Amino acid sequence: MEDVVVVGAGPAGLCASLALAERGVAKTIIAAPHRPAGDRPDTSTAALFNPSIQLLQHLGVWEELAAECTPLRSIRLIDDTRSIFRAPEITFESEEIGQPAFGYNVPQGPLIAALRGAAERAQLVCICESEGVRHFTHRHDAVVLGLAEGATVDAKLVVAADGRNSLARQAAGISSHETPCDQTAVACAFTHVRDHRFVSSEFHRRAGPMTVVPMPGRQSSLVWVERPEVARRLGTLDNAAFSRTLERNLLGLLGMVTEVGPRSLFPLSHMTARSMANRRIALIGEAAHAMPPIGAQGLNLSLRDVAVIAEKTADAQRTGTDPGSDECLKAFESARMADAHQRGFAVGSLNGALQSDLILVQLARGAGLHIINSFAPLRRRLMRLGMAPASPLPVLMQPRAE
Ligand SMILES: Cc1cc2nc3c(=O)[nH]c(=O)nc-3n(C[C@H](O)[C@H](O)[C@H](O)COP(=O)(O)OP(=O)(O)OC[C@H]3O[C@@H](n4cnc5c(N)ncnc54)[C@H](O)[C@@H]3O)c2cc1C
Repeated sequence: MEDVVVVGAGPAGLCASLALAERGVAKTIIAAPHRPAGDRPDTSTAALFNPSIQLLQHLGVWEELAAECTPLRSIRLIDDTRSIFRAPEITFESEEIGQPAFGYNVPQGPLIAALRGAAERAQLVCICESEGVRHFTHRHDAVVLGLAEGATVDAKLVVAADGRNSLARQAAGISSHETPCDQTAVACAFTHVRDHRFVSSEFHRRAGPMTVVPMPGRQSSLVWVERPEVARRLGTLDNAAFSRTLERNLLGLLGMVTEVGPRSLFPLSHMTARSMANRRIALIGEAAHAMPPIGAQGLNLSLRDVAVIAEKTADAQRTGTDPGSDECLKAFESARMADAHQRGFAVGSLNGALQSDLILVQLARGAGLHIINSFAPLRRRLMRLGMAPASPLPVLMQPRAE
């Protein structure tokens, strides 16, 4: 019987298996072929804040990735809602909180490849190639995972990283709270004539945010949230027409758009699991919480789940406790639930406020941003909270002792 089995080889599952190995816990990862949520091979990027970058350093993959990643020195919010209560433009500088950058923009394809390579090399990680887990059966001392190929694997603890439609979440009997989200994101990389000066810009628009994040040279990645029918139309435009439309919607910020890469469409959803652990199954990543790409919260939140599950499981191993016991699951859940709910609430509220026709909601959003802009201590606090919760970070997200 295995002590720990990780299900899912997306970024959360691969990081979890490496983090458990880093903490000295042996485990098997069930690696179904990775299928990103979009409609094409994943050319998207993820803005990862400094604590997540620290985790990648601890896991030994950062050196391989660093050359392809771009520092995020400033974050600019631009109100393009055309509301009568227009919010001021706000720019947060990482220098204001004494950091050279908030984090880095990391391409997701190379991230998965680097994590996968490290998992293949790690002695404590056993990769089980499979088309996936098809069913979970509960025994008092283990969960039995039935694989698509017919084999079974017994585990005291299942770390479920099987994405937003998680079968493991259902097997654990955990329900979820879903908010309808009639939006689709168009993602691609593009080149432009003006320098991005390492500034990430988030345009707040009525259909949702449109974010451009710096990449190496005069390139940026785009995540443009729109109504599904508009996103589909944007997806079918030829490159020249798309470039002109993008240029217009960027309000001249990056000058002429000279080239656009392949576009992927991601239908968005907003889901928070009502619990993060039950019946020997702990949920991490999008199995526990999926949200629209606002403020770069999704994968950063998932990597905090990763660091905590590794820490709690290593604690259990050290004290000879069953890693799938209620005690161990409770320790994980109580460390993670508030963060997941607060991020979900904040992202949902901002997304809802952008789309709201209510004058009072528009007024409150505009006034809130005015206050943030003019009150430096509040700005600094929000910048720190945007990167990570105020509670102490897990060991794997803290700088390494030299
Ligand atoms: C356009 C876009 C931009 C984004 N930008 C950012 C950003 O800037 N910053 C940020 O922090 N986050 C960002 N995110 C969020 C981030 O990309 C996701 O949170 C992250 O990819 C989710 O990773 P995951 O491993 O939890 O899930 P997934 O990537 O969905 O991986 C789940 C894995 O489980 C596997 N699987 C499913 N079922 C089974 C089964 N039964 N058995 C075995 N395996 C199974 C799947 O094949 C897949 O490999 C963005 C998301 C989008 C869509």
